[in-house]
Parts: sequence; structure tokens; C-alpha cells
Amino acid sequence: MVLDLKSVFANEGKEIEIDYTLDMSDTDYAGGYPLKTPVSVKGRVYNRAGVVNLYLEMNYSFSAPCDRCGTDTVSDYGVEFERMLATSIEGEESDTIITVPDMMLDVDELVFTEVFLSLPRKHLCSETCKGYCLSCGKNLNEGSCECKNDDVDPRLAKLKELLDN
Ligand SMILES: [Zn+2]
Ligand SMILES: [Zn+2]
Repeated sequence: MVLDLKSVFANEGKEIEIDYTLDMSDTDYAGGYPLKTPVSVKGRVYNRAGVVNLYLEMNYSFSAPCDRCGTDTVSDYGVEFERMLATSIEGEESDTIITVPDMMLDVDELVFTEVFLSLPRKHLCSETCKGYCLSCGKNLNEGSCECKNDDVDPRLAKLKELLDN
């Protein structure tokens, strides 16, 4: 979506609502395509006392296998984004200002970038996920397996042997 902001720049108090969905299902991340459903984008561009501001709120479902146990898991996330818009900046580039020399704003491009940067690094089915057994591969959330727990400190292994007998 590309917004024409000429009317916003020209009129104090003018506001344009943003409310649409953006398909990001072909976004490749960590070996998968986690954004299976469209990203919801809501916000507005408004002129307050001659200053044009942009506010965006993006919500999406992140769908990928749990990092520990591999179960397909969907989690919902939200990102907010707020910037001033200007047709030109005097002096240095700024992180808080986006320049729109032609008063056209490519909202899709901003959404793609902000959502991508916000994708979770850690994705768990639950904070308490027990993962899977490294020996037999059983999902330990579904119950413990028959394997003996081998991650015992070697120095304690001897003691464990004695206790087991
Ligand atoms: Zn898990
Ligand atoms: Zn096991």
C-alpha cells in the first residue's frame, strides 16, 4: 500500500486511517515460512500543528516448530512503529524522521522491515517445554521415556552406579 500524503501535509488536523492486511507468507526465516496468515496493519498518518506523524501497529501469528520439542506452535506478536514524516531534513539523517520527498509513503515496505526485524529468535510451545530425549527422541512433554538419564556428571557416575546397585 502506497499512501499519497499531499492532503495530510497541506492540512493541519488532517488524518488518514490505515487498516489493511499484508501477505508475508513468502517470508523465509530460519528455514521456514512462519507468517502463514496475513499480517494485520492498523494505524494512521496525521498532521498535528503542522507536524506529520505516522503510527503503525502490526499484529501477526508466528507459526513454526518449537525450538526444543519440534511441535508445530503458533504464537501471536505485535509491533508498534512511530515516526515523524518530513519532505526533507535539514542537517543529519535521523532515526525518528522518515523523509518522503514526493509525499508518497510506501507502507508495505515499512511493514515488511519492521515485522521481519521483530520476528522472535526463540520460539517455544511453552516456557516450561521439556524438549525431547536426546537418546530416543521422545517428546518429554508427553511423559518421560525409558532411557536412563545419562547427563550425569562423570564424576558422579561412579556414585550413581553404587546407589543403583
Ligand atoms: Zn516444545
Ligand atoms: Zn529417551
